[in-house]
Amino acid sequence: GYRSRASYKLLELDAKDALLKPGMTVIDLGAAPGGWSQIAADKVGAKGCVVASDLLEMDALAGVTFVQGDFTEMDVLERVLAALEGRRVDLVMSDMAPNMSGMAAIDQPQAMYLVELALDLARQTLSPGGRFLAKVFQGEGFDAYLKELRSSFRKVTTRKPEASRTRSREVYLLAEGFHG
Ligand code: SAM
Repeated sequence: GYRSRASYKLLELDAKDALLKPGMTVIDLGAAPGGWSQIAADKVGAKGCVVASDLLEMDALAGVTFVQGDFTEMDVLERVLAALEGRRVDLVMSDMAPNMSGMAAIDQPQAMYLVELALDLARQTLSPGGRFLAKVFQGEGFDAYLKELRSSFRKVTTRKPEASRTRSREVYLLAEGFHG
């Protein structure tokens, strides 16, 4: 079985966009409890590599190197980079979401900050042509973020998996063809 309901979203996204292939190097941000990492490790196989990170602890998974810490802290970024051991990355994915207070004025900027940092990491690690998948909440800063993605990638698509509750403002942005 899968560790989280989030797994079903990634399975849907992968079925549509063929995100994960054998031999790929993948970064999974906001990985705990590990649903996405399970799928990623399974699909990239023994020749692939998955580096996962989260604020929370995560039980070990075969084929996954885990870095625990707050992604807004510089040393976490550095530990993720170190875990790559020089590999260029094919796919950076972020399912990070802050603990929601329910107040949009607080939650939205925090959520945008996390995806901004995820994009920074993608720009530092992706191979030319690489892909970036991120959960983003519609609201303040969304359009500016989309524009920023479009400046670094050939194509950006919005995805709303069935498994994502229809009323929630979350969508997934898939950016393809990293300019390098
Ligand atoms: N994709 C995961 C899975 O399949 O099991 C579920 C991820 S859950 C929706 C969002 C995650 O973002 C939480 O595990 C949370 O700890 C993490 N998160 C929130 N803020 C974070 C931060 N500042 N740094 C790192 N991770 C963070």
